[in-house]
Amino acid sequence: MRIDIATLFPEMCDSVLGTSILGRAIRGGAVDIRTHDIRLYTENKHCRVDDKPYGGGTGMVIQAQPVYDCVMAILAQHRVKPRIIYMSPQGEVLTQSKVKELSEEEGLILLCGHYEGIDNRVLEELEVEELSVGDYVLTGGELPALIVADAVSRLIEGVLPNEDAYSIESHYNGLLEFPQYTRPEEWRGRKVPKTLLSGNHKNVREWQERAALEITREKRPDMYERYVEGKSAEKKGDK
Ligand code: SAM
Repeated sequence: MRIDIATLFPEMCDSVLGTSILGRAIRGGAVDIRTHDIRLYTENKHCRVDDKPYGGGTGMVIQAQPVYDCVMAILAQHRVKPRIIYMSPQGEVLTQSKVKELSEEEGLILLCGHYEGIDNRVLEELEVEELSVGDYVLTGGELPALIVADAVSRLIEGVLPNEDAYSIESHYNGLLEFPQYTRPEEWRGRKVPKTLLSGNHKNVREWQERAALEITREKRPDMYERYVEGKSAEKKGDK
């Protein structure tokens, strides 16, 4: 899979993309993530990419021309047209099922706004989808784009050691994950649950399933309810 991030601040993304699991995955070729500097595409002789908003108000708006030319240059590098996603607080809020959907694409272009955002006409012209990372406002789309790139990459073969590494984690199957423990067996009087030390895989698996259900009911009753409803609908469908 290839992910292109179009931004005015590629260095913000590059430092994250060069580090830890993502850095290893990119260097190893499991996923191809590239950053593109929108400023390099401006026709303005002073390299300006933004201007004051029509109608007045504080802040600056990124102009249509450099964004359009940058995205068109990225599109020209693709065989199959990738989805163009504008990171925006006005978009659909990201969920794990959306992440899974995006991970099945061959390519994604993640477009980052900054300041007051991007001239709306280029968003219309490029027919972007809008994706939000939550109902709050950040200074730019770089962190949201990295969130998408990270969450999507984890589901790509070869990024994590195996499917278990993501499929039993929180949200993947509608539940939160069971609690995790590591050495020592006792710390400040707190002991690791006995079953986890038993070496009995069946018992361990049952303990983890029970704990995942309990923790979801406790921390996210909304998710728990949806999960239980889904399971009972599944049962009815089987009959
Ligand atoms: N004026 C815009 C509005 O009120 O809808 C907010 C602009 S915001 C300060 C600047 C940029 O940050 C946006 O263009 C977008 O790319 C990004 N951004 C901010 N919050 C975001 C969020 N919750 N999800 C995704 N992108 C976000």
